[in-house]
Amino acid sequence: MSRIRGKDTKPEMLMRRGLHGRGLRYRLHGKSIPGKPDIVFPKYRTVVFVHGCFWHGHGCSLFKWPKTRAAFWKNKINRNMERDREALSALKADGWRVLVVWECALKGRQRRDLAEVLDGAEAFIRGGGKPFAEIAEYESIEKRAS
Ligand SMILES: [Zn+2]
Repeated sequence: MSRIRGKDTKPEMLMRRGLHGRGLRYRLHGKSIPGKPDIVFPKYRTVVFVHGCFWHGHGCSLFKWPKTRAAFWKNKINRNMERDREALSALKADGWRVLVVWECALKGRQRRDLAEVLDGAEAFIRGGGKPFAEIAEYESIEKRAS
């Protein structure tokens, strides 16, 4: 298949391009930073993760436990979630502020407007207040019982 679309609409690309367009300069994939965040804003000591809802076990409209190989997936996804929790506490301990943008904020039936997501992200990054925030779809359905 040829790649006709000139525009990458993956959530991470949308965030990178949008935040750069708002004058926020970043580094990618901070390898030496806990959890290897997708986007790093050294000036604001802030990192952004753009999490795929399936891989990170988000209790949202995009997430569904697979019916086949159920034990394998449960184990894998629970491990990912455990790693996320560890990365978050390590980042907090190192004085990083953390924003998680979930895939469902930008994709799927309950997604938000891109501008709204970028507004929220920019306000968080520049704001310097709270240590943690996340942006997800509208009306996130019940968090799944784990
Ligand atoms: Zn989600």
